[in-house]
Amino acid sequence: MNNKNHKLATKLIHAGVEPDPTTGAIMTPIYQTSTYVQAAPGDHKGYEYARTQNPTRTVLQNALAAIENGEHALCFGSGMAATDAVAKLLMPGDEVIVANDLYGGTYRIFTKVFALYGIKFHFIDMSNAENIRSYINGNTKMIWTETPTNPLLNIVDIEACAKISKEHKLLLVVDNTFASPYLQNPLDWGADIVLHSATKYLGGHSDVVHGALIMKDAALEEKLRFIQNSCGAVPGPHDCWLVLRGIKTLHVRMQRHCENGEKIANYLRNHPKVGKVYWCGFEDHPNHDVAKKQMRGFGGMMSFTLKDDNMDAAMDVLKKTQLFSLAESLGGVESLIGHPASMTHGSIPREERIKNGLVDSLIRLSVGIEDVDDLIADLAQAIG
Ligand SMILES: *Cc1c(COP(=O)(O)O)cnc(C)c1O
Repeated sequence: MNNKNHKLATKLIHAGVEPDPTTGAIMTPIYQTSTYVQAAPGDHKGYEYARTQNPTRTVLQNALAAIENGEHALCFGSGMAATDAVAKLLMPGDEVIVANDLYGGTYRIFTKVFALYGIKFHFIDMSNAENIRSYINGNTKMIWTETPTNPLLNIVDIEACAKISKEHKLLLVVDNTFASPYLQNPLDWGADIVLHSATKYLGGHSDVVHGALIMKDAALEEKLRFIQNSCGAVPGPHDCWLVLRGIKTLHVRMQRHCENGEKIANYLRNHPKVGKVYWCGFEDHPNHDVAKKQMRGFGGMMSFTLKDDNMDAAMDVLKKTQLFSLAESLGGVESLIGHPASMTHGSIPREERIKNGLVDSLIRLSVGIEDVDDLIADLAQAIG
């Protein structure tokens, strides 16, 4: 079914999904096959080889296109494989302007892989989109941003970035992993490509690694589909099925992530041992107005520092939480706690890290959907 008038909660359950044509199965089957029998060469049912097409993947791609208000979606074996495919649109000599508060793996693939192919990346502060203009030249091809960012929950104005990208005929790519389509649809604000690590909120249960790209433009989809098929970083059908299953409850999960997130952000803000709390729902967040414009809620991702700003104090909190598990990743039903300085951002030199606000005591939370009173009690005993 694909009805553009349906609201998100209905699309999440029905968009792209049809009963299985052979059996009527209401759940999309896992087509665990590598190839498809042809009656005569070229006489087939639209499926030739499973790197190129798989029916489970097709259903997921149609669902993802619908929930991001796009026309097309392409699935990949991970968020990084999706990033890799977009970067392969570029040629030696091309330049990309990238938000400097960025997922570590994205920074790594740009600086350690694609820079070696002669592509130039400018990492800049995009909290004011106008900053982008002074980096544009005749070689610029793409603007790349995340919002909210990791781990400091900065907000970038997608509409303002799109205005600049359109003026200069650049591609605007928005990594929408943190917000999910429940909170934000970058294509509606003028982005050309939306990227997801479906490993996070879309999958939602910490049981699959998966990536996706969503776009409106058919020519762009054709180029990216060529790269998807030629380079081959496609997901297996079981992984597609897990993401398809996950997105059916995205709205219910996100609603609770937002409710729990708000309560915990306020709890931390009033805690005598806590320093700064980074959460884009606070009215005094520097870009709260932009967050309110482009987002439908503020989510369950946040970071905070301790007044006793040192590694040992942070380690003590990490050791003591019981419901918040110490782990990389985010966006699952269970709450996670992490320490950017020693985990996700450990490879950045300390001076530079601290200059960017990633101090030694910074702790990141991915607030899950457990009972919020239990989560607050866990933080209370851990922070002391
Ligand atoms: C996790 C993540 C990625 C990478 O996705 P994988 O599925 O781990 O490859 C990209 N961007 C953001 C914002 C992420 O959180």
